Amino acid sequence: MGLRIVMLGAPGAGKGTQAIRMAAKMGIPHISTGDIFRKNLREGTDLGKKVQGYLNSGALVPDAVTCEIVADRLQETDCANGYILDGFPRSVPQAEMLTDFLAKRDEKIEVAVNIDVPDTEIVDRLSARRSDPETGAVYNLKFNPPPAEIAEKLIQREDDKPDTVKTRLATYHETTEPIIAYYDEQGALKNIAGDKATPDEIYQRIMDILPN
Ligand code: AMP
Repeated sequence: MGLRIVMLGAPGAGKGTQAIRMAAKMGIPHISTGDIFRKNLREGTDLGKKVQGYLNSGALVPDAVTCEIVADRLQETDCANGYILDGFPRSVPQAEMLTDFLAKRDEKIEVAVNIDVPDTEIVDRLSARRSDPETGAVYNLKFNPPPAEIAEKLIQREDDKPDTVKTRLATYHETTEPIIAYYDEQGALKNIAGDKATPDEIYQRIMDILPN
């Protein structure tokens, strides 16, 4: 039986990097609401048009829109044996919706992995984050440099620019951070120190605390 996992932590804490690797190892899907929104933006879908303003300003997409997308995704067959949610939930109402949705199916989130990184480090990391527009691969000019041959085609996410980073961090503290306590109360919380270590070391810390 796979696990249902949520990844918690500020933007840039390393949730996506770790979730991709965990999902590959565990053979379960990695579901990133940010990726879903960005794909819809690129493809110019109705959803993309609806969420564009929020993404570009670093604000949260309304809970009703986000929750519907997640509920649809979790009903797909590849989610039957667990999944890793990355970037969702991001507010207490979203977390409650997820709990209710799962409870109806006699399911729950077994583990909430909270990757803890100080704000000063987050700002440094996001300003150096770059991604490959073709493959979606994410690099960091400082901590995880890209191969020289692809360096030129890498782009910076619009919302990783300094002003938007400030908004996203403020939103994180105000709206998202309270869900750490929410999962703690449910007995699902696992805290992981997410700085002063390589991504490999952090991955190892996470694998060590996951139930077998
Ligand atoms: P991310 O890639 O997780 O940093 O998400 C990028 C952007 O997508 C966020 O800044 C929000 O605008 C939007 N977004 C992603 N996940 C959520 C969510 N769970 N609730 C609301 N907005 C979200």
